Amino acid sequence: MPRSRKIIHIDMDAFFASVEQRDHPEWRGKPLVVARPAAERGVVAAASYEARRYGIHSAMSTYRAQQRCPQLILAPPRFAVYRAVSLQIRALMLAVTDLVEPLSLDEAYLDVSDSPHESGSATRIAERLRAEIFAATGLTASAGVSYNKMLAKIASDLNKPNGIAVIPPAQGAAFAASLPVERFHGIGRATAAHMHALGIQTGADLCRLSRETLHHEFGKQGDFYYDMARGIDLRPVEATRERKSIGSETTFARDIEDRAALYQALLAQNREAFADVQRRQLQPHTLTLKLKYSDFSQTTRRQTLSTAFTRETDAHYWIARLLNDIAPARPVRLVGITYSGMREDSPQQELPLMLDFSRKTP
Ligand SMILES: [Mg+2]
Repeated sequence: MPRSRKIIHIDMDAFFASVEQRDHPEWRGKPLVVARPAAERGVVAAASYEARRYGIHSAMSTYRAQQRCPQLILAPPRFAVYRAVSLQIRALMLAVTDLVEPLSLDEAYLDVSDSPHESGSATRIAERLRAEIFAATGLTASAGVSYNKMLAKIASDLNKPNGIAVIPPAQGAAFAASLPVERFHGIGRATAAHMHALGIQTGADLCRLSRETLHHEFGKQGDFYYDMARGIDLRPVEATRERKSIGSETTFARDIEDRAALYQALLAQNREAFADVQRRQLQPHTLTLKLKYSDFSQTTRRQTLSTAFTRETDAHYWIARLLNDIAPARPVRLVGITYSGMREDSPQQELPLMLDFSRKTP
């Protein structure tokens, strides 16, 4: 029986926006977004808590955000500054443990199972880290503490901003059962809709399905959902982590032959895959489309671009084209979309990906 781990998830509060308010005192307490001017048809990279009260959030078009709040302050992004602050925070984390896995500039997992600090209390380590981050940067962070990554991440959102929440091992399963499925790691809109269609709304509903059923409905992700619904997540905190690819695929309940239906199914997988790309702030240059047929043979087609895919819709044209390339008329049982070829473009192409995915304020 493996011993229980101690995982902390640290998430800076409205990170980019908070940096701007810190550096511009006249902007404090006011609705602000980090974004380029609306005329450039950009999207909101981060919204201050004051702006969120107007229903403004990351990834919304700047134009729409300004419509919701005419006095909205637009702070031009300063990614070099955010990176520098992020490194400052990373150094404080590394002083606690080597096992730090950054998810983006403003979020990271820490495995403190073997940490000698604070008599091994993960909760006290997290509180100390939050205080150190504030002292060093003037910015607040929220923390989630639990025995695995999934629950630590959910916990960091519970008392946001500037809060901490702990989900101890004895409460993990009950907590997971109470969650709406949308809150679980890796369940995007399309998967959630698929689950709702099966009558699954919560972790408890998921627990009623067998591993085989979940595998049949959701492919290998189904096994992961089976565990998550029970508060189990065995993914290790990976200190050195280089994402080579991000993908999403689905197995149909019934094989599909119709081209238009296949296209729609691929768009749904693209939505999930690209959401993950954005969450991790990656810049993929290659898109791969996969079809698996009823006889389990499969075919893939890929397209590499000179600049990164920066929007979910960037892929739509290529998905249509790649699908067209594939000889028609064989029943398909599975479709998938994968992004790879992660590398940075020049800074001016960066904005659409540098999103602050901190959730809405409670
Ligand atoms: Mg955040």
